[in-house]
Amino acid sequence: MALIVQKFGGSSVANAERVRHVAGIIADNYAEGHDIVVVLSAQGDTTDDLIEKAQELNPRPSKREMDVLLSTGEQQSVALMAMALEAMGLPCISLAAWQVGIQSTSVHSDARIKKIDTERIQSELDQHRIVIVTGFQGVDRNGDVTTLGRGGSDTSAVAIAAALHADLCQIYTDVDGVYTADPRVCPRAKKLDVISYDDMLELSSSGAGVLQMRAVEFARKYQVVIHSRSAFSDAEGTYI
Ligand code: ASP
Ligand code: MG
Repeated sequence: MALIVQKFGGSSVANAERVRHVAGIIADNYAEGHDIVVVLSAQGDTTDDLIEKAQELNPRPSKREMDVLLSTGEQQSVALMAMALEAMGLPCISLAAWQVGIQSTSVHSDARIKKIDTERIQSELDQHRIVIVTGFQGVDRNGDVTTLGRGGSDTSAVAIAAALHADLCQIYTDVDGVYTADPRVCPRAKKLDVISYDDMLELSSSGAGVLQMRAVEFARKYQVVIHSRSAFSDAEGTYI
């Protein structure tokens, strides 16, 4: 039995059908007896749509209010996933960042995680619940919600895995893993089975979209093993 953090990106939970599909992946892992913590992004284009809504009202909204708005995307995802799992008869609970205690700096729209309290997550796991946590969100020392920068759910997942000393951090996206180059541009690009943190950092900084760079830095610092894989295929993915 292992403790596994599983993160699913926005495209993997874009609509009801995909949420149900991902719930099936989670259910299979839970059935194997693992402790599961799920980290989710906002569904599909939700974050961009929210930015557009803000622009309609104020071309220069304060970053604090933007964080209040954008953090709602991830909150929708975790509630919907919990409902999908409940419908399958599985014990689960959704938690926002402030409920977990994902403490961050106060730099709205680009906050850094400072510390993650593990008591709440651990006590839910002890009761054999699947714990579903909002990615991308933090809470600062004033109790205000913050966000971690675009793509920040990857960092949330890695940081939670580090704090819980998880055995594995799986990052599910819509690609099969990490390639030597962008497979959409370079058809001869090869999928890698394993890549070092340093090589992955180089790829991320040159714009490879599979993983947020800060997440890889975090993983290297805390020696978190990341498994990057597709939510839509059984392909083996890439270990970082
Ligand atoms: N929903 C946020 C974004 O689109 C965070 C994430 O997807 O990781 O940037
Ligand atoms: Mg997103």
